[in-house]
Amino acid sequence: MDTTRAPIRSRGAAHPILAHNVNEKGQLQMMRIAIPNKGRLSEEALSLFEKAGLRAQFRADRALVARLGDHFQAIFVRAQDIPEFVADGAAEFGITGLDLVEENNRPEVEELLDLGFGRCRLVVAARDENPAQHPSDLPDGSRVATSFPGLAKRYFASLDTAIQVVPVSGAAEIAPHLGVADVIVDLTSTGSTLRVNGLRELGTILDSSARLIGNSAALAEGAGSQTATELTSALESVLRAQKKRYLMTNVPKARLDEVRQVLPGISGPTIVDVLDQGTWVAAHAVVDEDRLYETIAALKELGAEGILVTRIERLLP
Ligand code: AMP
Repeated sequence: MDTTRAPIRSRGAAHPILAHNVNEKGQLQMMRIAIPNKGRLSEEALSLFEKAGLRAQFRADRALVARLGDHFQAIFVRAQDIPEFVADGAAEFGITGLDLVEENNRPEVEELLDLGFGRCRLVVAARDENPAQHPSDLPDGSRVATSFPGLAKRYFASLDTAIQVVPVSGAAEIAPHLGVADVIVDLTSTGSTLRVNGLRELGTILDSSARLIGNSAALAEGAGSQTATELTSALESVLRAQKKRYLMTNVPKARLDEVRQVLPGISGPTIVDVLDQGTWVAAHAVVDEDRLYETIAALKELGAEGILVTRIERLLP
């Protein structure tokens, strides 16, 4: 695979995302973003970048490198390896689960943004018949099957419990049933895998979701810091927009004061004249998705007609 950094030509006019470094030969280089190469994290990350105006352009099927918009190079690697790649500076930025960032525990990695997807919890779970109610009830010497040995050790050390880690690379749920471990430390999302395997949660070690991370040395330097601010703001604008809807409606002009109470908008609703005898106006506003139902009901009470709700792609404050 060709992972050498493609020099990009200076474009004369400054672009809002200055995602490049200058190497020792004075060439401009794109910054790299490490993205999981498969699974939901991968799909959601690419979709988020695309909505932020950074579409992945692959040269070939299953390519491990792609252009991300005009300004970044994406490298596709295992989610587990991303904290390491970012810590070592192989990529300036990365997207991966907080669980993997915390397990890796490298001081060179900075968390930049919670992306909200890939939510799961790292939990301690025991067989239903285990008498423990909480992880602190487990005796010294307990055997813990996990693919998160770092987080498990740190957690039990904080409880002053000396554990013995039984390393597994997956399917930890079986270990207590085989008698090779007393409990497991594993990820769960709906909890159904634990239940199906006769396991019960004793406690949560970490609430995890996908994060944008950055290399601290790159972030400390001018171009890196500016790119991080711009990238974070671009992704945040998409995340913010996902929780909002744009609502347009015609309302009787006489009820405008009451409409303003119902439609706060970001800085109040936009009111537009309707070409009639002056009895109606159009009101436009950004509304919280989770308040949409009651907002529409309240507008209808005020005589609103022709209510139109649309998604918003990006929302910059
Ligand atoms: P559950 O929904 O609790 O039955 O989880 C199903 C399986 O998916 C479990 O084995 C978890 O280890 C795994 N899992 C759930 N959510 C995530 C996630 N966000 N990242 C990685 N693995 C996950």
